[in-house]
Amino acid sequence: MLDPTTRSIKYLPGVGEQRATLLNRELNIHSLYDLLYYLPYRYVDRSRLFRVNELSGNMPYVQLCGEIRSFEEMGEGASRRLVAHFTDGTGFVDLVWFRALKFVRNRLKIGTKYIVFGKPSLFNGRINIAHPDVDASESVQLSTMGLQPYYNTTEKMKRAGLNSHAMAKLMASLFKVLGKDFVEETLTPEIIRKHNLMPLSEALGIIHFPKNMQELAAAEYRLKFEELFYVQLSILHYAKDRMLKYVGHRFAKVGEIFTRFYNEKLPFELTNAQKRVVKEIRRDVNSNHQMNRLVQGDVGSGKTLVALLSMLLAKDNGFQACMMAPTEILAEQHYATLCRMLKGLPVRVELLTGSTKPKDRIPILEGLADGTSDILVSTHAVLEDNVLFSNLGLVVIDEQHRFGVVQRAKMWAKNRIPPHILVMTATPIPRTLAMTLYGDLDVSVIDELPPGRKPISTMHIFRNKIDAMYGFLRQQLHEGRQVYVVYPLISESEKLDLKNLEDGYKQLCNIFCDYRISKLHGKMKPKEKDEEMRRFASGETQLLVSTTVIEVGVDVPNATVMVVENAERFGLSQLHQLRGRVGRGGNQSYCVLVTGDKLSEDTRKRMEIMTATNDGFEIAEADLKLRGPGDIEGVQQSGMAFDLKVANLAKDEQLLQYVREVAGEIVEADPSCTNPAYNIVWERLRIIKRNNNRYWGAIS
Ligand code: ADP
Ligand code: MG
Repeated sequence: MLDPTTRSIKYLPGVGEQRATLLNRELNIHSLYDLLYYLPYRYVDRSRLFRVNELSGNMPYVQLCGEIRSFEEMGEGASRRLVAHFTDGTGFVDLVWFRALKFVRNRLKIGTKYIVFGKPSLFNGRINIAHPDVDASESVQLSTMGLQPYYNTTEKMKRAGLNSHAMAKLMASLFKVLGKDFVEETLTPEIIRKHNLMPLSEALGIIHFPKNMQELAAAEYRLKFEELFYVQLSILHYAKDRMLKYVGHRFAKVGEIFTRFYNEKLPFELTNAQKRVVKEIRRDVNSNHQMNRLVQGDVGSGKTLVALLSMLLAKDNGFQACMMAPTEILAEQHYATLCRMLKGLPVRVELLTGSTKPKDRIPILEGLADGTSDILVSTHAVLEDNVLFSNLGLVVIDEQHRFGVVQRAKMWAKNRIPPHILVMTATPIPRTLAMTLYGDLDVSVIDELPPGRKPISTMHIFRNKIDAMYGFLRQQLHEGRQVYVVYPLISESEKLDLKNLEDGYKQLCNIFCDYRISKLHGKMKPKEKDEEMRRFASGETQLLVSTTVIEVGVDVPNATVMVVENAERFGLSQLHQLRGRVGRGGNQSYCVLVTGDKLSEDTRKRMEIMTATNDGFEIAEADLKLRGPGDIEGVQQSGMAFDLKVANLAKDEQLLQYVREVAGEIVEADPSCTNPAYNIVWERLRIIKRNNNRYWGAIS
């Protein structure tokens, strides 16, 4: 029997050596299977023909049938164009090309019956269609039955005649070769019946050549279901497996130090959200399983305190704890905070970073190894092999998205029984992403800010109003407040942007010559950076001109204004993070977004959202919708299957939630993957894993 998974594409009628090479190189299509899973990116309803005398300037895409009567070349330079006068007997319309004039002219013939497809628009009082699709009418007849699929193809392919239309022909040829029931079903009969799904073969046939929208929707649903189902099954199976394999350290009691801290040292009441999250953590660490929990909380929601309380639980139960921060500045800040809050309690806290001197390292490492140190605050430095703990029970990872899955796993190996893992992130993640990116973690949300915070007031101004803004800054500085001014520096090597920062710095030095100004960017040595940051934090300097290096975690309560220059260059999440640097004290704080006056639609929307809401979750959802999941920070590094082909994390939240439950039930019902009833799905999961978690494409 012909095996589509391995059968080379070149044997398909209509392909041959040359086209096969193109398909290999351009689209990574090798087997019949690869081609089958190369899906259309849109469909156009070609079931209806319009008449020329029905056309107006503001219609969507239309389809006409008629002939070209004459050609004309017009205009000079950029407006040089080829015009074909086209008629169907009811009137004339101009077909216009601005590119590839010669190619078009040679291909099209006067007097041949064509199907023309395009979007009419009004130009100089005449209706024309620019760059229409023109096909001989008999070749179109094949697919005018229903919706016509459109396939992405590359320039190289188009030049060789392999355009979308040709791809559709190859697909038609493919289905003739494959016959009926050409792929093995990938879901169990029970799942298919229970959730009313279309069989896979049928869905694949329809996704390429749907007769109508309903049919297409049902086929899409089946493929989305399956795609998301296996992403979730993979994640949940992994989590279950981990849970069965590892026994957790049990932190059974709430001991003396936790209680003393709570009663004597805690300067304020915990928010209800903090209390709830601490309870969730307690339940985890008091079970016999290893905790893997993500705490999500907007900037300023008080995650550090939750971390501290968890670490005290570890201490009271005879374990050490480690808190990892993504930068040295942040680690130092955490260290200072912990020391201050724990003053007078018998807890030994140490700090270890890349710049800890060799001779200072010795006692720190000894303390960790012999168990006299209780809490270590660190950076990536802790991952080094010579950092050994006597009994590490808990690892807190702050600002997780800067640590990959690999680092997380490395921390596990620091103890015979892996420590509990608490991941904290201030980057709110849309639910769909959380379910996939962190789908193997349990999630807690701190959805409440400590009382008394004044919401930050955000405004968007155009650069020509910047003098007025400087007046406002002066007023704030005069009142004793401090100010951040941030310039974009997207990659550390972009000299151009650095110049931006330097220019801005000079300019601000001129304008605010009676104040002291710090400068901070990623090209500085860590020592210099820390020194500048310290000067600003202590109030020695009043303005801080910086790149995004200050984005994460920095806490200077007296700073009340965040100015973001070239705000159009930042994504929503980043803007929100930057804004979170102010509003941390009792004073009203402000965020000013400065842009040029020509805004793209996208930038305009971002500015609108930023000025309309302070809610990090709302912003994250909007970010996902504007940019799509591929661009959200952390997604690329995640190593999870994000190569979704039919499902869309911005749109399919409900379905994702639903299939997560379906997958969860199977993992619970058959944790050892041995029940023959689920054979199909476990086998499929093995193939997907072997394929590097890639659901689609070459299956071998
Ligand atoms: P983040 O979640 O951004 O890490 P932090 O833990 O740095 O937030 O907390 C921000 C500020 O809020 C700190 O100054 C902290 O002391 C304060 N804080 C935390 N919890 C409370 C609370 N329950 N009531 C009042 N202030 C709090
Ligand atoms: Mg924090």
